[in-house]
Amino acid sequence: MTSIETIIELYYQAQKFHLENTDILERYSFEDLAKIYNGIGPDSFPEWLRKVISSLHPSLAPAALIHDVEWHESDKTRDSFSESNARFKRNGKAVAKCSFSFFNPRRYIVWNQARRFGNYCELFGWAAWCSPCECPICEKARAQAKANG
Ligand SMILES: [Zn+2]
Repeated sequence: MTSIETIIELYYQAQKFHLENTDILERYSFEDLAKIYNGIGPDSFPEWLRKVISSLHPSLAPAALIHDVEWHESDKTRDSFSESNARFKRNGKAVAKCSFSFFNPRRYIVWNQARRFGNYCELFGWAAWCSPCECPICEKARAQAKANG
């Protein structure tokens, strides 16, 4: 479970690195961001992709947060799907460049991981993008809609 403190830290990192689409984070409280961030990968992604996610370099977390919120808001279209995955790669590159100097090998390891993860999502994430979001906020909204008939 990601703590609120960690989410706040990721939020400020996303701002500091000037990542693309940080505006999407403004629509949610930190509490809700924590629920979304914890709720998306684990259930709707296939096992092996979850392993890829959990092995992502920690510095990619702010890019992953934006990516997760985009998946939470998925409009189930191919265009926004591809845009989200391409943006993860660009945001991951920005994180790598801001976090590590050009002579630090980690810059290229992190950048390469971001590129590979974006490509995996593009190749194998379509079903998850099109299926109902399984974060606690979406689960609750569905339960309420069902209760209201
Ligand atoms: Zn959701």
